[in-house]
Amino acid sequence: MPSTVDVAIVGAGAAGIAAARAVRAAGVSYVVVEAAARLGGRALTDHSLGFPLDMGCTWLHSADRNPLADGDPAQYQRDGESSRLFLDDQARWANAAEQSQHAAYIAACEAAIESAAARGEDPPVADVIPDDPAYRRHFDWWCGAYTSVPPAELSAQDWCRYLDTYQNWTVPDGFGQHIIRRAIGLNIRRETPVLAIDRRGPRVRLTTPAGVIEAARVIITAGTEALKYIRFLPALPQKTEGAIHRLPLGRANKVVMRFDRLDPDWIPARSGVLSIRFGRFGRPIAESFVEAAIARALEPEGESAQIAFVLDQLVAMYGSATRPRMAVARASLWGQTPWIWGAYSAMTPGGGDPRADLAEPVDQRLFFAGEAVHPIFCTAAHGAWESGQRAARAAIAALPPG
Ligand SMILES: Cc1cc2nc3c(=O)[nH]c(=O)nc-3n(C[C@H](O)[C@H](O)[C@H](O)COP(=O)(O)OP(=O)(O)OC[C@H]3O[C@@H](n4cnc5c(N)ncnc54)[C@H](O)[C@@H]3O)c2cc1C
Repeated sequence: MPSTVDVAIVGAGAAGIAAARAVRAAGVSYVVVEAAARLGGRALTDHSLGFPLDMGCTWLHSADRNPLADGDPAQYQRDGESSRLFLDDQARWANAAEQSQHAAYIAACEAAIESAAARGEDPPVADVIPDDPAYRRHFDWWCGAYTSVPPAELSAQDWCRYLDTYQNWTVPDGFGQHIIRRAIGLNIRRETPVLAIDRRGPRVRLTTPAGVIEAARVIITAGTEALKYIRFLPALPQKTEGAIHRLPLGRANKVVMRFDRLDPDWIPARSGVLSIRFGRFGRPIAESFVEAAIARALEPEGESAQIAFVLDQLVAMYGSATRPRMAVARASLWGQTPWIWGAYSAMTPGGGDPRADLAEPVDQRLFFAGEAVHPIFCTAAHGAWESGQRAARAAIAALPPG
């Protein structure tokens, strides 16, 4: 006998947990089916270096508008925007004039993208930004870190859609932990991948290796790469299918390192190839962000390749004494993580609004949620969270009477 619920929720990342909490609060029967053995999806706090360190979402971005920035505000660390610029191609720190030129060039790129978008155009970001022999690669790095794809693959409209209030907070026991704590007491089946979703009958049937689940409504929070592995019967409408393919996940990885101690000269920095921060919450830790192109190149070689890359950069920036002081390190491999297969969604150029298209319910029975569908907080955990809440409200409202 298949198990039967009012609402089935596919995936227990931020969106799935938010949806489940909202459905439970409405007193509706539900189950969450999660393919992986752990909860959280791209929200993952690692403890193997002796401290809680985030390998996926790290900052409560737009924290003054972020539903996950609840509780005591004093617990969060506020990150400033300022970081020192390293000219990695010349192996030296930028001087004040160069730092200003860099900032002016990045601002000019952003203005050019915004004007193209304001004209209603949707070219690749790479086609509208001004060239600059010194700083173009720095913009490319920034685009990769911000959006997880290089400028040639990103829609200008999508660049402009994200609402950033420049308030970035971190969580002492980890953002991943902060999210999965909210799943306590929820009805979740782990290690249960949904392989097919069949809406041809009166109830929607979800096929898993552990049997069939029947549900009146289904909230689907699998990311846009994982969605490609679910068989839909009948096939999804072309609009939904097209939206999934226009919202691929790019690449971005975190590299975290534990040192015997930090040097006061090790201040936050960014270069044309990485960004680095030290000592969050007073810990002897460095956290680095490896973006789209570099993550793509290094991921196939495994964690050690990204760790070696970051360490080489640190030696170039802060001197050879850095290397022996690094004790242990970890790197994420999001592009190779089963059921996720990437970092965050980036809309391809060409106009339209695939995020809104994917957010549209299918037959009032399937409701897509997750970071990819949020209109202004797409790519981010709080966008995923809000989208889960919204999908839950819609799914509950669409339940058949009785
Ligand atoms: C390196 C990196 C840094 C980031 N930094 C930040 C940051 O600082 N701030 C921020 O706000 N965001 C950040 N993000 C983005 C943030 O992590 C994501 O936007 C958010 O966690 C996505 O949540 P989600 O619920 O939409 O998807 P996911 O977390 O991907 O959850 C989907 C879940 O569905 C499961 N699943 C998939 N397929 C199936 C299936 N067939 N059956 C059952 N289950 C399935 C998956 O296992 C997964 O658990 C970062 C991401 C990365 C990779």
